[in-house]
Amino acid sequence: MFSALTDYGITKRAFDNNICTLMTINPRDFTTDAYRRIDDKAYGGGAGMVMKAEPLDLALQAGLAAQLKKGIANPLKIYLSPQGKPINQEMVNKLSTCKGVVLVCGRYEGIDERFIEHNIDMEISIADTVISGGELPAMLLVDSIMRQIPGVLNDQDSAINDSFMNGLLDYPHYTVPRKYKGMQVPEVLLGGNHEQIRKWRLQMSLLRTKLRRPDLLERRNLTKIESRLLEEALNEVGTRLEGN
Ligand code: SAM
Repeated sequence: MFSALTDYGITKRAFDNNICTLMTINPRDFTTDAYRRIDDKAYGGGAGMVMKAEPLDLALQAGLAAQLKKGIANPLKIYLSPQGKPINQEMVNKLSTCKGVVLVCGRYEGIDERFIEHNIDMEISIADTVISGGELPAMLLVDSIMRQIPGVLNDQDSAINDSFMNGLLDYPHYTVPRKYKGMQVPEVLLGGNHEQIRKWRLQMSLLRTKLRRPDLLERRNLTKIESRLLEEALNEVGTRLEGN
């Protein structure tokens, strides 16, 4: 599954250039029975199977030993779980400063609670919905962490301007042609006045955040200039709505 990261795009380039490394371990390789069973019925009954603690423990030890060989002692051990802390940019930025992390992916009904209690430092959820396995959430986390590691993106500025990096959503983007299905590119972007463009983009970021994610603005103190730009933009939207 992880070839989606190692074989494509920005993440592939970072792995090829040894900026980051990814090691995947299959806990099934640490089973001892002929059927290589990683799961069993839940104590107490009920539907679904549970991943066993022992092969997971052995797989984790193998991962930790491999990281130690690279000089990474005691990396953060994260279990991807719908019951974890919801992922956000601040969390990702912090994780991007760790030398290494171990990500544990569950399947079935989840994993034996004793494995979690004994080993896991942090649980992270990617959304308030349940999916079938922890691999996709782990890939999402790895990709978002990698974008914050110097050298991974060609233009580091593109990460700085991304949504959430400064507590705001990104501004709208346009490329050629200038006119598409009767819609024009905003005039200010064509004029080459960098200060005006910067101001317009900030204003659009503020407006989008206010309209789409007001919760983000509640957590962010706006400067005087930002408040004025937002007010201006909201008035403009109001005037346009009244005009319609
Ligand atoms: N029974 C579990 C529950 O309701 O909390 C869900 C198990 S889920 C079918 C199987 C695995 O997928 C989990 O162990 C976890 O690793 C992963 N998973 C599912 N949804 C997730 C989410 N929103 N965030 C992170 N991991 C998730």
